[in-house]
Amino acid sequence: MPAEQLKLLFTEEEIRGQVAKLAQEINRDYQGQYPLLLGILKGSFVFMADLIRLLEVPVEIDFVTLASYGSARVTSGKIRVVKGLRSAVKGRDVLVIEDIVDTGLTVGYFMDYLRRKKPSSLKLCALFDKPSRREVPVDIDYRGFILPDKFAVGYGLDFNERFRHLPELYVIED
Ligand code: 5GP
Repeated sequence: MPAEQLKLLFTEEEIRGQVAKLAQEINRDYQGQYPLLLGILKGSFVFMADLIRLLEVPVEIDFVTLASYGSARVTSGKIRVVKGLRSAVKGRDVLVIEDIVDTGLTVGYFMDYLRRKKPSSLKLCALFDKPSRREVPVDIDYRGFILPDKFAVGYGLDFNERFRHLPELYVIED
């Protein structure tokens, strides 16, 4: 099994509390609306699944797959949309659901791509944020946790496709 050393950062209960806080904010802000929640795969699927079950507003769900050309641990900055959108974005209230914002290149690119499709509103919800690593500015409207500059795994986040299933969040110790 894993040779990497994992250090616990947030327990399942801490994550549940923060997801509930974000859901509350979304419920408050989107009252009377029917937002389109767009998850960025693969990492956001666990967060999305937990978040939507706490929502009291009706939502539509879709996912996109984006890929950077870098290796597993470094983003190159060149992003492409591998699996595109099926839902119409024009005139919709779009809320992007991202697992983690690191350099900001991935989500920054995707927000620009969506903005060109003329949504009626466009916001970003990210469970984890590593602001010390930012290379391009990103406005996070709903943010869960601030992380140190370490590689995180668990709760949907992988290292070479491992660890996504862990209910807690860990960092890999070098
Ligand atoms: P960006 O650097 O473009 O903000 O981050 C892009 C993607 O890199 C994230 O959506 C996520 O998939 C991955 N990533 C960034 N930091 C981490 C991390 O600490 N752990 C894991 N597992 N993935 C990360």
